[in-house]
Amino acid sequence: MEAAESGQTRVNAEETQKLIIAESSIARQLKKGFERLRFDELGVEAYFRREFVHDRLTRIRANLFFMLSILLTFALADALVVDEVAHTRLYVVQIGGLVPVVGILIGLTYHRRPHRMYLRWVTWLSVLLGFGIILVDIRAEVDGLGALFSGVLIYTLFSGFLLGMLFKEAITVGALVWALYLATALCAGIPESTVLYNASVLLVAFIVSATVSYSVEEGIRHHFLERFQLHELSLTVVRDGLTGLYNRIAFDECLNSRWSNAQRQGDMVAMILIDIDYFKRYNDEHGHRGGDDCLRKVAQALARCARRPLDYAARYGGEEFAIILYDTTPEYLEELSMRIHAEVSALAIRHGASDVSDRVTVSVGMAFVVPQMERSAGGIVQAADEALYQAKTRGRNQTFVDSEASYAAMKTGYFRKPPKVA
Ligand code: GH3
Ligand code: MG
Ligand code: MG
Repeated sequence: MEAAESGQTRVNAEETQKLIIAESSIARQLKKGFERLRFDELGVEAYFRREFVHDRLTRIRANLFFMLSILLTFALADALVVDEVAHTRLYVVQIGGLVPVVGILIGLTYHRRPHRMYLRWVTWLSVLLGFGIILVDIRAEVDGLGALFSGVLIYTLFSGFLLGMLFKEAITVGALVWALYLATALCAGIPESTVLYNASVLLVAFIVSATVSYSVEEGIRHHFLERFQLHELSLTVVRDGLTGLYNRIAFDECLNSRWSNAQRQGDMVAMILIDIDYFKRYNDEHGHRGGDDCLRKVAQALARCARRPLDYAARYGGEEFAIILYDTTPEYLEELSMRIHAEVSALAIRHGASDVSDRVTVSVGMAFVVPQMERSAGGIVQAADEALYQAKTRGRNQTFVDSEASYAAMKTGYFRKPPKVA
């Protein structure tokens, strides 16, 4: 009987695990595909972009230093072979315009949060860089130096790849650089037939590089989702046997790693504690097996709530659950609070002995911080625990947000109660 019971428990937990994995935004996205090179959920998209930049940061920086050395070499070579007047003109653009732009891009790769700053600025700085190269090319052509449009051609072919741009950024840059070339060449009085020929070649180069960039990004996105799902599956050993959520050991490890990441990058970490109201009475009223079943259902409801790729739901112990959120906002926390109460309420599990409702309800304690370097993760756990205590003493079936933890005096106190379900 006992073996059968534990067998039954294991099968159910596995089902929960499968459901959690299948329910995850990553799995849904993989099934659906992403034709327009964009993940549906903003959280997944933002996470992808951050990973994309972080994974390539060292290489992008090396490419930028390479570009810088090429620019300086060309400037030096021009100084040696080009006559003085023409050289001075080239020199102004090369040293005065291009070098500082590359320098700014290099500086951005050293920014504390490169995923925000670099991707935001790379498009416009690349257009500026392209424009500088166009000026050098056209100046050289007007001065009869025979450089034609080789610089802008190479730039059109390789800038997206060298500067670590995603497809959309790369085609914006390519299209604008092409238009700028056309306009500048015509204004500079280069014969129309030459401009037309050069612009056609540039257009072909642009289409080729855009096509390559599209298929490369498609592969990177696919790989990103698969790697994430593999990681999810490999974590089966750290799942809680009853509910299928992550267990306490996994939770502690996750919290510590998110915490030190956030310390380095200045991101916000939130911890949410969820405790079933009057659960002891529920066990007494509906039996221990009934209690286990209730725990599993609440766990599934929470897994449905914590759906962004960095949301991490765990069984904290007994009838308490915890969710860690990374790089989140007070608005998202408020929305999540509503969703947690609504999902648990939608389970419609009858509770014959609760003082707050005839259905199973939860109390929620939330704490969020941008961790300072010297603080340990223990503080946020304590803050979430105190918030949960407040939610309990203020009448249960509600969320309380800790005010101590929100250093920057962000929203504190109650979040609205969920609408009552009849
Ligand atoms: P409150 O509203 O203040 O949260 O009261 P409570 O009764 O929910 O909290 P209390 O901590 O007094 O009781 C928690 C109960 O959860 C006691 C324990 O029997 C039950 N419990 C803990 N783990 C399990 C489990 O794995 N299965 C079942 N069925 N019950 C469990
Ligand atoms: Mg408890
Ligand atoms: Mg409880």
